[in-house]
Amino acid sequence: MEWYAWLHQAGQGLLNLLFPPYCVLCRAPGAWLCDTCLDQFPRPSGKVCPRCGSPIKDAASLCRSCAQNALTIDGVRSAVLLEGGARQAVHQLKYAGYSALATPLARLMAQCWHAAPLPVDVWAAVPLHVARERERGYNQSYLLGCEFARLVGLPAMSGMLRRVRTTRAQVGLNVSERRANVDGAFVYCPPRGGQGVYGQRVLLIDDVCTTGATLEACSVALKRAGAVSVWGLTLARAAPASDI
Ligand SMILES: [Zn+2]
Ligand SMILES: [Zn+2]
Repeated sequence: MEWYAWLHQAGQGLLNLLFPPYCVLCRAPGAWLCDTCLDQFPRPSGKVCPRCGSPIKDAASLCRSCAQNALTIDGVRSAVLLEGGARQAVHQLKYAGYSALATPLARLMAQCWHAAPLPVDVWAAVPLHVARERERGYNQSYLLGCEFARLVGLPAMSGMLRRVRTTRAQVGLNVSERRANVDGAFVYCPPRGGQGVYGQRVLLIDDVCTTGATLEACSVALKRAGAVSVWGLTLARAAPASDI
């Protein structure tokens, strides 16, 4: 973690005065990500698979992977492509300790949502394993989700999605290896005395989607608990070779 990011995590108000934020991409003062840089993030364009959101040639059908392996998740959308500045910003959020980047990045997710809202009742973040979260100090997907939900007015899911198994990083794995890696890694823990997720439509929030394997493993756990539909919204979409 960079010392500048660490200082800002330690305390905001006074530190903002002593060490004012600057754009992590172009170094312009005033904000952690300036509007000029945010506007330049590449947006998904062209045809995508209606199920997993990966780019395809023919939008009338599912991509080859979804056609071969039926997914339980109802659909995945992403705000930007994991390229250029977006890739650098996600890296800073995940690995350099710049948790404050979740606020401007979630604005991009809210823009994507307003352009095409999904039919959901509640949201939940894809959880990290407790050991990983302790090491990083925060779950970047949860931070993105909180800010996104505040902007669009979506309530949080009751009960909890838990990552019960540590999984190796998905980077470098192919589609079937990714699915096997996260299979059974998540469980849904209902709240005491409540209905939990039964009968609800859930929006899963994650930072990056590559093949959709992680979102799919979460979807399986939620549908097993009675969720009627599960959608995914991620900040960024990665081509399998450019994952981070
Ligand atoms: Zn900038
Ligand atoms: Zn697909």
